[in-house]
Amino acid sequence: MSWFDSHAHPTQAGIGYEILAMRAAGVEGFIAVGTSVSSSEAVVDLVGSVHESFPELTVGAVVGIHPHDAGSATNEDLETLSRIIEDDPVLVRGVGECGLDLFYEYSSREVQEEVFRSQIALAKRFDRTLVVHTRDAWEDTFRIFEEEGVPDRTIMHCFVGGPDEAQRSIAMGAYLSFSGIVTFKNAENVRQAFLATPLDRILVETDAPYLAPVPLRGRPNSIGNVAVTGSFLAELSGLNRLDFARHTWQNTIDAFQLAPKTL
Ligand SMILES: [Zn+2]
Repeated sequence: MSWFDSHAHPTQAGIGYEILAMRAAGVEGFIAVGTSVSSSEAVVDLVGSVHESFPELTVGAVVGIHPHDAGSATNEDLETLSRIIEDDPVLVRGVGECGLDLFYEYSSREVQEEVFRSQIALAKRFDRTLVVHTRDAWEDTFRIFEEEGVPDRTIMHCFVGGPDEAQRSIAMGAYLSFSGIVTFKNAENVRQAFLATPLDRILVETDAPYLAPVPLRGRPNSIGNVAVTGSFLAELSGLNRLDFARHTWQNTIDAFQLAPKTL
């Protein structure tokens, strides 16, 4: 059994324990995601050292500016992101997480939109996977993609829409990545969205340290818990865990164009 966590925010401080726990849970890969220039530099360093110490794991980094941080982003920051991608073309697999958050709206809508558009352009320019954060902003998100075009590989991270948003995301060619939220009692619409999504578009993630799945809800999340969410989704889909894990593993390899490994 090999699970893959398509989206987490690990830090150097906890990584030793995190790797022990993930391997015990049958998790053999993860994507570490930045939310600012400094955290992006940190995840690239972290993924580099994990790759060296644990070559049997499959890992990658995603670098970008979260909509919460869009307000303080500068043109220089975007240039720095380009440089990070150029400097490490093998380990840096994607751009993000980026997008729109109109629930918290920590940065103004206009600025969020501009910084999102710049990162869509960056993903296209370097042929990298785009990792999208969208909250209370579906219409604006779809509009921006209509205007900018959709990068070849685009992931709706922590998908919390319903079947309608799932259909629209699938129609534009995106992958849907499901987090622990899908296990929450009040997330029936997300479960319906999952059931409306073709198996080859489904990814599983933790978004650790946030969003621990039931029955761990409320505790700090960790990469190993992707096995909990993955098992929940396998049961929901009617597949056995091994098959579901195998499919979502391969989907993650495809979505980030990771070098395949013999397991
Ligand atoms: Zn995240």
